[in-house]
Amino acid sequence: MGTLPETRLVPLTIPVGVPPATKLGGDPEWIQLEWKPECCGERMTFLGQIDSLDILEAHLPDSAIVYVFFCSKCFETESQLQCC
Ligand SMILES: [Zn+2]
Repeated sequence: MGTLPETRLVPLTIPVGVPPATKLGGDPEWIQLEWKPECCGERMTFLGQIDSLDILEAHLPDSAIVYVFFCSKCFETESQLQCC
């Protein structure tokens, strides 16, 4: 059995005035209405967002962002796609 390649998570920093982009953690950069998914009776934790312009291979609509949340109790995830 081979070994998996080493991977690291590197936080992205978004300069002030630059449109939302792909990132992990922090706060969502909404392009439409704020969305607050709940699970197990509590608000889910924001995991990250994926900007369609950053990951062209994802075949997302133009100017779209996918927001991903997870529940720290049951580990369910929820996602929402917003377009501007
Ligand atoms: Zn849950």
